[in-house]
Amino acid sequence: MKSMGMDLKIILFFSMVLTVMAFLPKPALSGHTDALLLSCMDYRLVDDTERYMTNRGLRDKYDHVILAGASLGATTDKYPCWNQTFWDHLDVAIKLHNIKKVIVLDHRDCGAYKVILGEDFAKDPGKEKSVHTDKLSALASRLKEKYPGLEIELLLMDLAGEVEKISDHAN
Ligand SMILES: [Zn+2]
Repeated sequence: MKSMGMDLKIILFFSMVLTVMAFLPKPALSGHTDALLLSCMDYRLVDDTERYMTNRGLRDKYDHVILAGASLGATTDKYPCWNQTFWDHLDVAIKLHNIKKVIVLDHRDCGAYKVILGEDFAKDPGKEKSVHTDKLSALASRLKEKYPGLEIELLLMDLAGEVEKISDHAN
């Protein structure tokens, strides 16, 4: 009887170890990932952004750079350090993870657009879209110039988390 109790303890111990192992974070496959995402810092869309990327099958498969205003943050003359931060991170992402694609995700009712450009574009959704298209396109052309091999995707999210593709001015 005593030895059966011992066996049971051993079985319990190993099943506990296996259970713990199952919940440990899996070591990521180092070396490369698919994409780099540039998004705004807006707290309202953090979960929507994660959900959007997950729905695309990109969960845990992208590097993420966050700058207020996303494309505007990366291009505005008002915050040259932010521009540099974006390019430095992109460079590291390419060297470290061999990323092939940059996804730029702007969003509507963006406070950074309001602060940097001095206008509340959210009042006029048509104009808002065209201002975002301008800034996204400006970043896209700089990206193409610096890294001609990179695939570029330009997106605009609304406050409900819906995402629309934006066509580059140059295309
Ligand atoms: Zn924003």
